[in-house]
Amino acid sequence: MRRFLWLVPVILLPLGVLLGMQYTFLRSLEQTTAQAARNTLRNAVDETAHDIERHFSSATDRALAISPEMLRSPRALGDHFRAEAVPGARTFFALPFNECGLLSFNSAGWETTTSGGEARAITAATMTWSAVSHTTPGVPLRPRTIDARDMAYPIVLRPITDASGRIVGTAGVVFDPEQARATIEKMSLTMLRSRLNDDYLSTRVGNEERFRNARGERGFLTSPLGFAFNGWSLGVRDNCATPEEIAGSNFRINMLWTGAVGFVLAVAIGLAIHSAARQLRLSQMKSDFVSNVSHELRTPLSSIRVFGEYMRLGRVSAPEKIREYGQYIEGESRRLTQLINNILDFSKIESAEKNYHFAEVELCQFVRDAVHAFAMPLREGGIEVACTSNDSFLVSADRDALGQVLVNLLDNAVKYSGDRLEISVRVSATAQEARVAVEDHGIGIAPQEQKKIFEKFYRVSSGLVHDVKGSGLGLAIVHHVVGAHCGRIELSSAQGAGSTFTIVLPRLAMPAPELVKFAKEFA
Ligand code: ADP
Repeated sequence: MRRFLWLVPVILLPLGVLLGMQYTFLRSLEQTTAQAARNTLRNAVDETAHDIERHFSSATDRALAISPEMLRSPRALGDHFRAEAVPGARTFFALPFNECGLLSFNSAGWETTTSGGEARAITAATMTWSAVSHTTPGVPLRPRTIDARDMAYPIVLRPITDASGRIVGTAGVVFDPEQARATIEKMSLTMLRSRLNDDYLSTRVGNEERFRNARGERGFLTSPLGFAFNGWSLGVRDNCATPEEIAGSNFRINMLWTGAVGFVLAVAIGLAIHSAARQLRLSQMKSDFVSNVSHELRTPLSSIRVFGEYMRLGRVSAPEKIREYGQYIEGESRRLTQLINNILDFSKIESAEKNYHFAEVELCQFVRDAVHAFAMPLREGGIEVACTSNDSFLVSADRDALGQVLVNLLDNAVKYSGDRLEISVRVSATAQEARVAVEDHGIGIAPQEQKKIFEKFYRVSSGLVHDVKGSGLGLAIVHHVVGAHCGRIELSSAQGAGSTFTIVLPRLAMPAPELVKFAKEFA
């Protein structure tokens, strides 16, 4: 893994730069989006304010288009005002500048009387037209005047001229501010919702006062309203969020996605590097394995051949020499057999062809026999293997596989004991478990290596171990076989003090066939 560490800055640096650029881009996008949303809202409210103005102005123009003939007939006027309703109107009126007085009609076009402030506002508003009624005909006249001096009674007036262009009267409409406000709010809401395709809008109409924000209230975007509603504005807002809030939340969502994608990318790259490093390590271990195994096979085979030749040719005749060579040949053959067994077993395990034949095994006796068979040839080399076991414990086990586990552990204990060849094997049990501990006082295993040594081909490559030959398969097989027996392997080791490998197997509490079935499924 360490040899790939240089890749980390190489990958993380561009990734960081990319994320930084993305952040800057999203920030500017946030501002642009908020500005664009605000502009869209502003354009929409401006257009709506104009539309409303146009709507009121043309409705008023139609209602106030009165001929001099109509002026003489209250009934005709009533019919006309009924036909040409103006939204938000309180009173229509017509004032002929002759002996007849003011004719007023309610918003539904029925004759009525005016009084108080309204009457005063009408008098004040009509006065100007009454004053100009004596001017020379043909002088260009303003088609319409607005009198909003009293905002409680805003009035729109139109002069009525005869065929010669003389002003013979005036007609007007008095607006009801509350009704007009409600009407404009409703109309503008419908227009804006369809214009912006947003159902969460709300509108407000009125003077400055109406737009002074209550605490915590969202602000309205306003556009001034003209016509008779001097000083009023049309305001709109999104009840859910302001354009800035919407842009801000989009920014956060985008950043979250970017972060998540960056994280997934980094994790994926990390995993790819990890897996590449693993593959590299595995292939390195495989090639080490091949060279180790070749060496393990070649050296004893050539010695066996040489000693065999010596004996065949009768070059050694002394009985001690013959026994010594014989012992050597026996010892090396045993090691070769074990090596070949391990390789064969490993290949079966790898291709999932390893079959176990479980049977009831009395563990103490079994271990004693295995240790005896293993230790016999070593005794003369000064290696002492002691086995302490008293009781008898039944376990369900494949005798060959369990035997091989013990041999592998004992063989390691011998190989990695250095000069202190004291090896002991203890069998013990609890109510549920039987334990076989193989203890040596050899070189021990560093804590950081203790997990790895159970991996296939793995060999500790530092210190004394480097000189000891091996295939790196022994403990991988032990681990697999013990697992197939529903057991586990425990290791306690200290560098320089020795190691204890303990096989823990379930005691035969349930009937053997079921355990066998369970173990087979596991295998
Ligand atoms: P090998 O053929 O190399 O012995 P193993 O799988 O049996 O392969 O062991 C893997 C590694 O674990 C060995 O290379 C060795 O470093 C370490 N090891 C195993 N048993 C012992 C032990 N009893 N004492 C110290 N180190 C051990």
